[in-house]
Amino acid sequence: MINVKDLHKSFGSLEVLKGITTEIQKGDVVAVIGPSGSGKSTFLRCLNLLEVPTSGHVWIDDEEITHPKTNVGKLRTKIGMVFQHFHLFPHMTVMENLTFAPMKVKGVSKAEAIAKGESLLQKVGLLEKRDEYPSRLSGGQKQRVAIARALAMDPEVMLFDEPTSALDPEMVKEVLAVMKDLAETGMTMVIVTHEMGFAKEVADRVLFLDQGILLEDLPPKQFFAAPKSERARDFLEKVL
Ligand code: ADP
Ligand code: MG
Repeated sequence: MINVKDLHKSFGSLEVLKGITTEIQKGDVVAVIGPSGSGKSTFLRCLNLLEVPTSGHVWIDDEEITHPKTNVGKLRTKIGMVFQHFHLFPHMTVMENLTFAPMKVKGVSKAEAIAKGESLLQKVGLLEKRDEYPSRLSGGQKQRVAIARALAMDPEVMLFDEPTSALDPEMVKEVLAVMKDLAETGMTMVIVTHEMGFAKEVADRVLFLDQGILLEDLPPKQFFAAPKSERARDFLEKVL
């Protein structure tokens, strides 16, 4: 589903990703963990070309997205992204947030977009908020709407960049529960997270990034029990 080969990304003279190579299969749930500044967000953003890799190759679904002729708009319809700070459209209701892109980008009819919106809001437990504006929602509710909004495009892959890091502790659970449900539907997911419990329980694999290098790529059981690198052991000692 996702194939990454020798991915490099620099910002000016700062080399942030130093040759990442990995493969993610359809239906895999992959947790990306590592210290702050290690390049986790940059890695994720390279997968949907929010950042353009400096060199290396990325294929999504057999299409090389690092090819200069890639249709970025079309690519993004295949890849949903959820950010730490939600990024909902503040001037739109919850339902408008969900129906905007399907109608505008995919040409879905309004009736169809609303029907799909209702079913997604039902899934994330927020159908009764359909006509609210984002400012009237809690952080956890906003993030659940953001997930539903991304799903409204029927993506093949979902990317999450620290989706619970901006939330009050009591709201973390409700968002993780939605993500866990989604994982159980077979969605391919790449999740940058500091929620080690979630990574352990839900992920099929853990990628550990440190200073732009993919140091570990292991099933969670192995990673948490016996990380191979000193850096990962240090990291786990600090966070667990
Ligand atoms: P993480 O998500 O693991 O905390 P990031 O990928 O956000 O790490 O950042 C890795 C490094 O790249 C940091 O040193 C950060 O300051 C730098 N960086 C990220 N984005 C940019 C950018 N757009 N311009 C310049 N430097 C950036
Ligand atoms: Mg980050």
